[in-house]
Amino acid sequence: MNPIDLHVHVLGNGLAGSGCRVQRVWWQEPFVQMMARGVGVDVGPADPRLDEVYARRLGSWLDESSLGGVVLLACDYVHQDDGVSRPDLSRIYVPNEYVLELCRREQRFLPGISIHPARKNALDLLEAGVEAGAVLLKLLPCVQIVDPALARYRPFWKRMAELRLPLLAHTGGEFSLPTYRPDLCNPDCLRAVLEQGVTVIAAHCGAPALPWHRDFSGDFLDLRNAFPNLYGDISALSQWVHFKTLTRVRENPQRILYGSDYPVATSVFCSRAFRWISSHEAERLWKTRNPLQRKLELTRLLGFPDTIFSGVYDVLRQTPALAKIRSGEDVLSG
Ligand SMILES: [Zn+2]
Repeated sequence: MNPIDLHVHVLGNGLAGSGCRVQRVWWQEPFVQMMARGVGVDVGPADPRLDEVYARRLGSWLDESSLGGVVLLACDYVHQDDGVSRPDLSRIYVPNEYVLELCRREQRFLPGISIHPARKNALDLLEAGVEAGAVLLKLLPCVQIVDPALARYRPFWKRMAELRLPLLAHTGGEFSLPTYRPDLCNPDCLRAVLEQGVTVIAAHCGAPALPWHRDFSGDFLDLRNAFPNLYGDISALSQWVHFKTLTRVRENPQRILYGSDYPVATSVFCSRAFRWISSHEAERLWKTRNPLQRKLELTRLLGFPDTIFSGVYDVLRQTPALAKIRSGEDVLSG
């Protein structure tokens, strides 16, 4: 079976018309450069070719991997509760139109749209996104200022449930983007969405991003016990700070789904240091240059059950593009 990676970021500077935006911050430059090297993007951040090079590189990693497809994530602007858009507070912006365009070009790219529910036309955008083939909707409540409990958002969640569009919501600490509402790092804030019947995937299972962040993985597991429609993803989880979260979800892998958080780097060293993998396995992973494949192989070595991959097929919104990937898989295995 060919797994789908449900957490892959699209990035761009928009200088060639993609509509993407990125605000650069001086202290993050070394990390950005490290990440660019890790995914093999060799043009500078202010180069108009960046968006195209990034998308093509991702496509070639996918070609050379054993994945069946990846979900590409859009990223909406930060909005105030009253619907006022705040581009000034948004460090990155990736429009749905650009993600949809990339997915039309490459069949194994599946669109993950992003719509802030405070937008005046949020419901219309939701219908249009689903019509265009979205397989999920991505939000970062603590970053984009989305308080799921606000009563005015209820029709939006309700419509997502009716459309069977799952929500991929960032939970836990955040490193790359500013956190405006630290109280919304706790997965517990997703209760209001779950109560409307939406399938929710708590990205990172509430893990911390920095050593002084709180670990919310216990809160995540409690919430998962209470709501059969709550899932988690293991995207980004591979560093020292993730030890507690990873230990917990490996022991309780029910409804845990596969995702990488590309272009975020996957550490092999920590899994070896925790003695979760042998030195022989670590060596093999170190030699795996393809970041998509490295995360995939590490996940298998960590002993997660097959449901981490098969579950993705069940949870994503069923679209013709997803069916195509699934049937390709049948042809291969048959
Ligand atoms: Zn992410």
